[in-house]
Amino acid sequence: MSTETNDDIIYTKLRKHLDSFPIAYPKTESGVELEILKELFTPEHAKIALRLRTIPQTIEEIYPFFKRKDKSLEWLQANLSEMVKKGLINGGKGPDGRMYYSGAPLAVGFFEYQVNRLTPTFAKNFAQYMDEGYRDAIIKTKVPQLRTIPASKAVKTIVVDEKVDHKNLVTPFDEVEELLANASNTISLANCVCRQTKEILGKGCKHTMETCFQFGGAAHYYINNGLGKQVTKEEALEIIKKGMKEGLVLQPSNTQKPFALCLCCGDSCEILSNANKMENPAQFFQTNYYAEVDVEKCTGCKLCEVKCPMHAAVINDAKKSTIDLGRCIGCGVCVTVCNFDAVHLVKKGEAIPPESTIDLYKQIAIARAESESEEN
Ligand code: SF4
Ligand code: SF4
Repeated sequence: MSTETNDDIIYTKLRKHLDSFPIAYPKTESGVELEILKELFTPEHAKIALRLRTIPQTIEEIYPFFKRKDKSLEWLQANLSEMVKKGLINGGKGPDGRMYYSGAPLAVGFFEYQVNRLTPTFAKNFAQYMDEGYRDAIIKTKVPQLRTIPASKAVKTIVVDEKVDHKNLVTPFDEVEELLANASNTISLANCVCRQTKEILGKGCKHTMETCFQFGGAAHYYINNGLGKQVTKEEALEIIKKGMKEGLVLQPSNTQKPFALCLCCGDSCEILSNANKMENPAQFFQTNYYAEVDVEKCTGCKLCEVKCPMHAAVINDAKKSTIDLGRCIGCGVCVTVCNFDAVHLVKKGEAIPPESTIDLYKQIAIARAESESEEN
């Protein structure tokens, strides 16, 4: 006889509902994904989340279902507001000034929204879920939510050969200054939820904590809900430059106009540290570059080997740095740390990111459907 309670059924339904979003929420044998939901969502909030789509809706559009259940509009409003505050769903004003609500995936979504309020249980369950299924599910679509852009000329100019100037080499969407200029003027700066997670698990790194930017609607969400503070473009650029000098990897959202930009490290970043466990992680990153060493100039000082977040730069028996192209994500950290001008980035493609977040999620949904039909 089944011992499943009504609440268990609700969380199982919510798991399936979240899994129907472009970003998967797969089932595991241990059921850790349900434990994550049980910790964050009350049964009532889970029932409401079940009715939310990935496309933002007004409360009037969401309400008819709850009206049939004899719930008042005020009841729904209070719960939606509480769920936004708790970082369970997306919610913010649209261009018409009305509030819009949508369901959030785990990442980028209600995992990130737990910044500054992570519990040890959540951190432990999230790490377990990564290992038991979430990492594979998000990576196998092959359309990443974030992409990698090179450390820019703000630290060191990237050259392929003497005849090619910087402007011609770097794709505009890959240049952090242009990306920032093109971004919304409303910018928020938040702590890195990945570093906070690792810190709780006793595996914290020493990198700067406040390194995650949100733009436009995402910035309003962070500022309004106390998850981040507002900064100017000039302040953002200063922090980005410091991050590049620190050897952090620039990972903007995979969209032409970014909704986020993270300064990541191989120690704590959930994407980089999990990709590091794979044999050829470069294939899962959207990057237009790879590193190449000038053996004549390389002194074998090992700085690139120590700082490379993907362990792609390795010193060989001849005491020269060599790059494992299966691991190199073209972040340019090695270029910024090398004091001998012995390593540079080579352009390998000109992938243009999707125009908007909606386009990105459409591409992810298509890629996910293709990958699942290949498996069946
Ligand atoms: S940092 Fe530069 S000089 Fe040192 S090992 Fe790497 S490529 Fe060679
Ligand atoms: S070798 Fe490492 S540090 Fe250099 S670009 Fe590749 S991944 Fe980045």
